[in-house]
Amino acid sequence: MSPQIEMHPQRWGDPAAATSLPETARGLIELAFGITEHPMLAGSTPPAPVIGAAALAALEGVVGVEHVLVDDATRALRTRGKSTTDLLKARSGDLSDAPDVVVRPADQAEIEALLAVAASHRLAVVPFGGGTSVTGGLVAARAAYAAVVSLDLVRMKRLLGVDEESMTATLEPGLRGPEAEALLAEHGMTLGHFPQSFEFATVGGFAATRSSGQSSAGYGRFDALVVALTVVTPSGTITVGSAPANAAGPDLRQVFLGSEGTLGVITSVTVRVRRQPVVKEYVGWRWPSFAAGADAMRTLAQEGLLPTVIRLSDEAETAINLADPSSIGGAGDPGCLMITGFEGTQSAVAAKRAALTSLLTDLHGVDLGEEPGLSWVHGRFNAPYLRDSMLDVGVLVETLETATFWSNRERLYADVKAALESTLGEGAIVLCHISHVYETGCSLYFTVAAKEAADPLAQWATAKTAASDAMIAAGATITHHHAVGTDHKPWFEQEIGPVGVQVLRAIKASLDPAGILNPGVLI
Ligand SMILES: Cc1cc2nc3c(=O)[nH]c(=O)nc-3n(C[C@H](O)[C@H](O)[C@H](O)COP(=O)(O)OP(=O)(O)OC[C@H]3O[C@@H](n4cnc5c(N)ncnc54)[C@H](O)[C@@H]3O)c2cc1C
Repeated sequence: MSPQIEMHPQRWGDPAAATSLPETARGLIELAFGITEHPMLAGSTPPAPVIGAAALAALEGVVGVEHVLVDDATRALRTRGKSTTDLLKARSGDLSDAPDVVVRPADQAEIEALLAVAASHRLAVVPFGGGTSVTGGLVAARAAYAAVVSLDLVRMKRLLGVDEESMTATLEPGLRGPEAEALLAEHGMTLGHFPQSFEFATVGGFAATRSSGQSSAGYGRFDALVVALTVVTPSGTITVGSAPANAAGPDLRQVFLGSEGTLGVITSVTVRVRRQPVVKEYVGWRWPSFAAGADAMRTLAQEGLLPTVIRLSDEAETAINLADPSSIGGAGDPGCLMITGFEGTQSAVAAKRAALTSLLTDLHGVDLGEEPGLSWVHGRFNAPYLRDSMLDVGVLVETLETATFWSNRERLYADVKAALESTLGEGAIVLCHISHVYETGCSLYFTVAAKEAADPLAQWATAKTAASDAMIAAGATITHHHAVGTDHKPWFEQEIGPVGVQVLRAIKASLDPAGILNPGVLI
C-alpha cells in the first residue's frame, strides 16, 4: 500500500492544495480587518517521549517494531486535531499534547492485544482516525498515565464485505472518505457521506463522532447509516446490530456511536449503502429572508419532499459568499441563498425536482437555476484551506454548530449570533447557515471572522464560551455533528444532566475499568 497523504501539521488538508489568499479576498480582508502577516513558527519539536522500555517492548511485541513509532515527525502529525485552536497552537510551535508513541495495528486481534498491554502498563490510548477532530477529541489527559499512545488506524483500510442483496457493506475504520467511496464504487455503490472533512476523516471517526455530511437530507447522517459495529473494549470485543431493526432491548449501537474512543476501538462498521447516482443536479433558490427560507425548508421536510442536499445561508453569509451578490438578487439585495441537490436515477431526480420546484415556487422562492448549485459543489471542500490563508494574515476564523426544534430556531439563531458578535471584538463578522434539516428541526452552522487579538486563543475561548452558554440557555444541543471531545464537556454535562453523566460513567467503568481509553474526553 502506498503511504497516504498526510496533512500539514500546522494547516488543514493536502499540503499540495494549500493556497494563498486570492487578491480580491485579500483586498476585502484588508478593508475589514487590516492585514498582519502571521508566519508559522517552523522547526518546533514535540517534548521527548516518556515511555518505559518494558511498555515499548510489549507494544512492539504485538505489532512489530516497524509499527511502533517514537520519532518527532510522526508524533507531531498525531498531535491534536484541526480546530482553529489546534492550528493556532501548532502554528506557535506548541506540541505539548503530542503522544509519546504512535502504534499502528493491522487488525482487530492486534488491537485486543494492545489494549491488554496498555491496561497492564497504564498507558492512555487515543484512537486516531483522520485527525480531523475539531473539539479536542484527540487530547487525552495524561497526568495519571505512564505514557500516551496514539492508536493509529491507518493500516486498517479494507472493505471487509458487501451484501448486494441487503445493500450493506462492512468497512474497516481507517478508510478515509474518498477511499471508502472508491472501494464501494467498484460495486456500483456509494455511502453518500460527504462532510466537509471528507478528504481526510475516516469511517471509524465518522462513527465515533456521529458525523453528518452535506448530503444528510438524502442519505442520512452517519449514525443513521450504521447497521452494525464491532468494538474492541478492554473488557472484551462486542458486535452490535443483528437485524435491520429489532426490539431486543435498548439499541447498543447507540452506546458506541458517538463514544469518541472512550469506550472501545471501533474495528469494523457495517453501513447501509445506495446505488451510485446516475444523475446529480444542484439548483439555487433565493428567499427574501432567512426566516422565509427556513419556513420553506420546514415545509419540505414535513411534506416528505427533502432533496439529497439542502442548505440555506443567512443574509450575511449569502452576501459574503457570492462574488456578485446582485446576480441572485437583481437590484442589490441578495436575500438568502438556498442550495438544493438531487441525486439518484433519472426518473427519481426528475420527479423530486419537479415536486420541489412546484412547492418552493408556491412559497414564493425564486428559482436561480443550476449555476449557484454548481458553484457550491465545486467549492464545497475549499473553505478549510481558506481558513489557513486567513490565519496567515491575522484573521481569526472558526466555526461552530448546534441544533434545535423549528419552534426555537429564531431564538437560538439570534442568541448565538449576539453572543459571538459581542465577544469577538469590533468589526467581527458572524455568518450562519442551516446545514441539516429534519421534520422537527434543523442545525445552525456559524462561521466567524475577526481581527486576531493579541491572544487569539483567549479571544476565541471567550467567544466560544458565550456561544455555548447561549445554546444551552436556549435549550439547544451543544453539538449537532462535531461531537463533544474535551471542548464541549462542560456544556454536554449540562445538556444530559447528572443522571445522564452517571449512566455514561457506569458504562465506561464497565467497559474500561482501568480508564485507559481517551481519558478526559467526553465524560
Ligand atoms: C475542516 C473540517 C470540516 C469538518 N466538517 C465536518 C462536517 O461537515 N460534518 C461533520 O460531521 N464533521 C465535520 N468535521 C469534524 C470531523 O471531521 C469529524 O469529527 C470526523 O467525523 C472525525 O473523523 P476522524 O477520522 O478525523 O477522527 P479523529 O479526528 O481521528 O477522531 C475523532 C474522535 O473519534 C475517536 N476515534 C477515531 N477513530 C476511532 C475508532 N476507530 N474507534 C473509536 N474511536 C475513534 C478519536 O479518539 C477522537 O476522540 C470537520 C472537521 C474539519 C477540520
